[in-house]
Amino acid sequence: MVSALCCSLVVVISLRCAQLVETPCTQAFIQGCEWVGKFFMNGLKMLVVPLIASSLICGMAFGSQSECKRLGLKAFSFYFLSCMVAVFIGLGMVNALQPGHIDQALAAKILGQANTLPEHFIQLSTESTSKISDFFLRLFPSNIFSAAADNGQILGIITFSLLFGFFISRLPETLREVQLRLWEGIQQIIRNITRIVIAFSPIGVFGLVTPILLQAGCDLLQPLLVFVGTVLLGFATYVLIFLSLLLRFVGKVRPFAHFRAMLPVWFMAFSTSSSAASLPIALDKIETVSGVSPKIARFTLPLGITINMCGTALYECVVVLFLMQLYQVTQGIVFGWSDQLMVVFMALLTSVGVAGIPASALIAITMIVSSVGLPIESIGIVWVVERFLDMFRTAVNVLNDTCGTVIIARSEGEKTAYPIGQ
Ligand code: ASP
Repeated sequence: MVSALCCSLVVVISLRCAQLVETPCTQAFIQGCEWVGKFFMNGLKMLVVPLIASSLICGMAFGSQSECKRLGLKAFSFYFLSCMVAVFIGLGMVNALQPGHIDQALAAKILGQANTLPEHFIQLSTESTSKISDFFLRLFPSNIFSAAADNGQILGIITFSLLFGFFISRLPETLREVQLRLWEGIQQIIRNITRIVIAFSPIGVFGLVTPILLQAGCDLLQPLLVFVGTVLLGFATYVLIFLSLLLRFVGKVRPFAHFRAMLPVWFMAFSTSSSAASLPIALDKIETVSGVSPKIARFTLPLGITINMCGTALYECVVVLFLMQLYQVTQGIVFGWSDQLMVVFMALLTSVGVAGIPASALIAITMIVSSVGLPIESIGIVWVVERFLDMFRTAVNVLNDTCGTVIIARSEGEKTAYPIGQ
């Protein structure tokens, strides 16, 4: 992906230096790039419904019949609460710093071909998203199949999948086994297809980013820096304030000693941008350095790395609200609290389905963007800084799981390393 960005930059700088941006040839080139970008985004869109349905059904079905009931309950409560806090920190940051409130012409350039809103968005924004009570109405679509076919109705798919997963766990043993295997298989298949689509991201990124860079040029730098700053500040607040307080007052361990002990894990997550790839080293450090027993570490860490993505949830929230702010500037649409609530809710849920591999959050962002009715092509701008921010959010994801593991181990009465007062 980095190479795609470099290629894109070389092309843009060459065309700009040679003052060829307005020529018919360059315009045809831009159209070609837009086509490639659209092609790639279609691949992502194709995965939205199956990915969210299969991961929520599996998560719910396995979660509600967990054998280690007490540990499972503690782990799920930690994941839910920490993700909720992360998303609200993201919400607070993006509302305070307003990275998307920029000059109207620049915002239009950044949105590029996505600057025109689809018909169904106008309906959503004027009718159904305007009241909080309507948010709840959208949780239950009258027809699940038309909801699956309609980009703006992801919320209904989520409710249906959660109910479906829950009732799988209530089936008689033989039927439940069949269902669990079936949905696990489907989830595996969809994740493999996701990997293939993501493997094409360098070409897709080139197609998405080049037209934006060509049209907006250096003006892009300032809003992008504010956007990146908002995300990083959100991560810093989450780790340095929330996780530190949690470790100190709930886990009763010294936070910075834990962060230092986990440095190899941070580096691994940072350099691979993959929580899954960081699992072996995280397990090793949490058992050998932090002193958590294998019984707890081997349950909570793999589970956390699969379903608990706080950094990703925070990031999703900031991205979608940033895009909403851009539309607010260009189209004059006012997004109310119910829209923001919807983003919070979706960020919480979709982060569960994000795979621990590079760039997989973008599929979740695609889901949220379509569920608020915006064109998914609008996320083009985000690709410019995607890899850079992926390193940070993966590090936050993995660090959060190690913190959860230590806190759960302490609550089970384990004597872990670096307790307070020693
Ligand atoms: N790369 C992240 C991880 O592995 C997932 C994402 O946010 O894209 O945790």
